[in-house]
This record gives sequence, structure tokens and C-alpha cells, in this order.
Amino acid sequence: MKVLVMNAGSSSLKYQLYDMRDETVLASGRVERIGMDSSIVTHEVPGHPEVRDVSEILDHVTAVKRVADMIVHPSHGVLKDIKEIDAVGHRVVHGGEVFKESVLVTQEVKLEIRKLFDLAPLHNPAHMMGITAVEANLPDVPQAVVFDTAFHQTMPQTAYLYPIPTVLYRRHKIRRYGFHGTSHHYVSDQAAEVLGKPLASIKMISCHIGNGASITAIQGGKSVDTSMGLTPLEGLMMGTRSGDLDPAIVPFTMNKEELTLSEVNSMLNKHSGLLAISGISSDMREIVQAMDEGDRNAQLAFDMYTYRMRKYIGAYAAAMNGVDAIVFTAGVGENSERLRAAVCKGLTFLGVELDTFLNSEHSKSARIISTADSKVQVLVVPTNEELLIARDTYKLVKEQSNK
Ligand code: ADP
Repeated sequence: MKVLVMNAGSSSLKYQLYDMRDETVLASGRVERIGMDSSIVTHEVPGHPEVRDVSEILDHVTAVKRVADMIVHPSHGVLKDIKEIDAVGHRVVHGGEVFKESVLVTQEVKLEIRKLFDLAPLHNPAHMMGITAVEANLPDVPQAVVFDTAFHQTMPQTAYLYPIPTVLYRRHKIRRYGFHGTSHHYVSDQAAEVLGKPLASIKMISCHIGNGASITAIQGGKSVDTSMGLTPLEGLMMGTRSGDLDPAIVPFTMNKEELTLSEVNSMLNKHSGLLAISGISSDMREIVQAMDEGDRNAQLAFDMYTYRMRKYIGAYAAAMNGVDAIVFTAGVGENSERLRAAVCKGLTFLGVELDTFLNSEHSKSARIISTADSKVQVLVVPTNEELLIARDTYKLVKEQSNK
């Protein structure tokens, strides 16, 4: 079975084509600048040079058409006929309280996703455009949706409710949803495999540290708490996002600086975090480099970032009354030994002992980086959200055809 995985944004679209027999990626790529001048399609077949095509792509229907053209192209295509695609799986950021797992797309499902536009105004409408564009180009192909929030739907009320008037939850569904669920789910499965233990027996803290960052407490394979909230702004300090702060800072700053709602929103989402404190960059590589050159603000940004991570790990160890494994994943988590070392250095009270050599090894595979004696196992697990989307899509379509 061939599954096309799609992540549609408002002006971009990323794709991977999987052969599910051995879960290999046949081709991948992206369309950028949809609806703008000179849109770019970049297409790559493993082992071959990247192909780029610049042309006008005004909407998502045309974008999907171009992707299909690339996939069946006589020289850089990988399929003879687009009908060889058996299913399409979409990443959808917000599934609200309705979607607790991945589902096949139906009229009802589309209606529910539309109802969630308010909760994810930047993402869900774009995902819907992706779904509609696939319908227009591949009308008979089943589609599935995989939600960033679904994995966290197992959180108990104690963890997902905010201590504010409950009418706000009842009326507007204001609560913690959490994000990066597909990644936390994928790496927790992988980590259990590496540890050789059933997931049901492990208390795990999974740290997805990329441009956006979140930490999840996973007990028996289920998310029991996570650092992102109603939106992906809560929790850890991130590249450009503030993460946790005193909510009173919002009205106070608006008043003192005469900022509008959208200005304060943009300040907290785009001009805070590593970027604000270092004054240099939101990219951890540049922070570490500047820090090594003696830049004190970069050092402060790094220290705040890792301090806040450590506080969450401590909190989640308390939430689960213990922790067996800590997992690092995503751009920073997978690649920055400096970050992992700094975070783990302050966790010796939990029994965390990092193996300096294993931590510094460069490898693309899931691995343990703690010492043999460490009470808590520490792992690096490369995330692969696309593969989990492909797997869920494959499973749903197969179940449907067996009915
Ligand atoms: P996104 O949240 O956009 O999916 P990623 O998970 O791809 O992000 O992470 C991207 C981030 O990973 C970059 O902004 C960069 O800061 C960080 N990163 C990548 N490689 C390294 C590295 N070797 N050391 C430190 N940080 C890195």
C-alpha cells in the first residue's frame, strides 16, 4: 500500500510518499509560497538530487496537482499512475475534545474540524484546504486525519482544567489540550522498544525540543500531563515563544506599552524566548556558539531554557510519583549534547546519570545515553511524525477494507 502523508499550512504544503510494505519513503518534498508570486515545489527521491520547480501556484488544489505531477513525472517520478496512491494521511493540529485518535475523513469529521477553527485559527483552516485539495485531485482515495492533540486526550481533569471559572470551559472549551502528541506518542513507543520493556510498565518523561518545545508525562503509554496548553504558547521557554509567565504580565504590558491584543500576542509568540533573552537568535546552534565565544546574554538564554526544562521534568516526576526514563527528541533534543548535559546535570537527585561518551556520540538511531548504573534511563529518540501518520492511515484504511 502507498500512503501519501501531507502537512498543509496556509501557504505551504509538505509531503512524503510511503511504501507501507517496508515503511520506506519513496519521495518527499514541499510546496512553498502558495498564493504568492513564484511558488516553489521541491521534490526529492532518496538517493537522487533534489528537483525544484518555480511556477505560479495560487491555491492548494493546484499545489496538490503539482505534487501529483512530481510523483508521476517521467524522469523524477516514483509511480506510473497517481491511482497507485491508496490513501492520504493529514496532520491536523487541533482535534479538540472530539478526536481522541486518528480517524478516516468523512463529511462529519470535516464538520467537526471546521468547528475547531476557533481553537487553531492559523492551522486547522489550512489543513482543511489540504483535505479538500486532495478530494479535488484524487476523488476516490480515502483520507485520514492524525491530530497533534489526540495523544493527550488521556489526561485527567486534574491536569487539563485551568483553575478559572468553569463556565469558560463549558462555553468555550478553554482547557489544556497539549500539542506534539504524534511525536510524543511515536518516541514513547520507540523508547519502550529500545528499553526492551512493555510501555505499560514505564513512567516516562518525553522532551520534544525543537523550535516549538513541549514536555509530556507518559504513564503506562498514556499522556497524563503535558506542558503546552490551550495553545502551543504555554510551558517551556522556546525559540521565540515565552512559555509560562505570570498571566498578569499581559494586561500590565498592554497598559504600560500601549499594545493591542495582536501586538502582545505577537510579542509572546514571535519576539520572546531564546531570541528575546539572547538578542541574537532563536536557533540553539547560534546560541551555543555565541555562548562559547563568551556572550553573556546567550549564556543566560541557555541557562534559562535548560533551567525551565529541568523544572518541568521535576514536576512531572512528582506528578507520576517517579520516573523510569527521560527521552530527548526533535531538532534540539536530538542534536544538542550540550542541552542534554545541562538539563541532566541538575537531575542527579532523581538518580539521573548521563554517560558523557554516549551523550556525545552522533547517531541517527534511538539509543540510551545514561550510564549502566543510572536509576533513570536517558534516551535520544529521533522523532518521525510522518511515519506515525502513515502507519495510522494505513491501519485505518486496512480496517475499513476488512469490514
Ligand atoms: P520544528 O519545531 O520547527 O519542527 P525542529 O524539531 O526541526 O523544529 O528543530 C529545529 C531546531 O533544532 C532549530 O531551530 C535549531 O535550533 C535546532 N537544532 C538543529 N540542529 C541542532 C544542533 N546540532 N544543535 C543545537 N540545536 C540544533
